[in-house]
Amino acid sequence: MNPLTTNFYRPKYFKLAELAPSELIAKYGDMVWWFLDSRILWTADAIREYFNKPVTCNYQGEEMRGLRPPGYDVKNGVYMSPHEHGKALDLDVKDFTAEQVRQEIINHPSEPAFQYITRIEKAVDWLHIDCFNYQVGDRFFLF
Ligand SMILES: [Zn+2]
Repeated sequence: MNPLTTNFYRPKYFKLAELAPSELIAKYGDMVWWFLDSRILWTADAIREYFNKPVTCNYQGEEMRGLRPPGYDVKNGVYMSPHEHGKALDLDVKDFTAEQVRQEIINHPSEPAFQYITRIEKAVDWLHIDCFNYQVGDRFFLF
């Protein structure tokens, strides 16, 4: 499965409600899958299998860790957020701290499971990964 050449991927381990807010699902139903980048969906499954632990994106009471509605981040002064473009996920890997997961990814830049990750947010209590169109110098853009 190569999400780059097929541009289609449905995750094995995540339901749509775990990756998108209820307001968008209520409005667009299954079409919301269209708005999630196939590479970030593939990567969510790949991380689940790499660590062999449950991986959480949205959960009860928090539904903005995956896709976000247009304008959601703009209100907070963040323009062109990868979350609004379906290219970012905030994840927790059970039994690992966010920093442990970040270091594992950063220390294994050639690991196939991480091949579509281009940017990683530093110093937050969750793993933010995205697949923005970045590949210059360092393998990962840390921000
Ligand atoms: Zn994020």
